[in-house]
This record gives sequence, C-alpha cells and structure tokens, in this order.
Amino acid sequence: MPVTGLEPYDDQNIFARILRGEIPNKTVYEDECALAFHDISPQASVHVLVIPKGPYVSSVDFAARASDSEIAGFWRAVGKVAAALGLETEGYRLLSNHGLNAGQEVPHFHVHVFGGGPLGRMISANH
Ligand code: 5GP
Repeated sequence: MPVTGLEPYDDQNIFARILRGEIPNKTVYEDECALAFHDISPQASVHVLVIPKGPYVSSVDFAARASDSEIAGFWRAVGKVAAALGLETEGYRLLSNHGLNAGQEVPHFHVHVFGGGPLGRMISANH
C-alpha cells in the first residue's frame, strides 16, 4: 500500500519495530525524543535517518500532534546528529518525504541526513 502520510499510525511499521528493538539498527545517536541510525540502503556516503520516538506517521502528523517538547527535542537531536557525524563544517542536506508525490515508504515520520561529499543541486525530478 502506498504511504499517503495521512493514514492512522501503524505500530507494525519497520521503524516502530526498530524502536521496540525487534529489528537491529546501526545507531548513531539516541535520546528521550529521537533515535538516529544508518539507512539500510544509503543514497550518499553518509545517509542517516532521524526518527522521533513517538508514533507520528508523517511531518504533517508530527507538526499537528507532537508536544512542543517533542518537537524541540527532535530538532535538537537532528542538529546533534549532524554534529556527531562531523558534517557541520563540510555541509549536509536534510530531507523528509511526505506521502505520495514524495514516495514516502515508511509511515513513521523521519528526516534523512545526507552528507559525506557534494550532493548536487536540490532534487532531480520530472517537472
Ligand atoms: P522514505 O522513502 O520513507 O522517506 O525513506 C525510508 C527509508 O528507510 C529508505 O531510505 C530506506 O532505505 C530506509 N529503510 C527501510 N527499511 C529499513 C530498515 O529496516 N532499516 C534501516 N536502517 N533503514 C530502512
């Protein structure tokens, strides 16, 4: 089933299972708000996913339902991850897919952190 980003949270999604420790991951950073781990299919030299610990389907769901402290904690964690990966000086890219046009695959809100070399200009798409 394609992910719309608007469906109810599915607690069997792969990131929910990673959060419960049912599936292993290569953790980069963890605190009370967020978990960061290497993407299983990296699209850049460095490709890390940062996910909130709470059950949010998409960026829209996270913005609507997460508490202020969860939102602040999550974005602080994203910054800490970039620093922990040593990407602050050379630069990096953040990306989050919501729903159909973005091709979201996993229905648990996440931010991709890309780095480790030049990333090109923005996105390539047919438009
Ligand atoms: P999306 O397309 O939803 O923005 O990105 C989902 C990402 O999750 C993809 O880049 C995909 O490679 C990654 N992914 C899917 N399953 C797993 C998994 O079991 N472990 C890890 N580490 N990454 C996964």
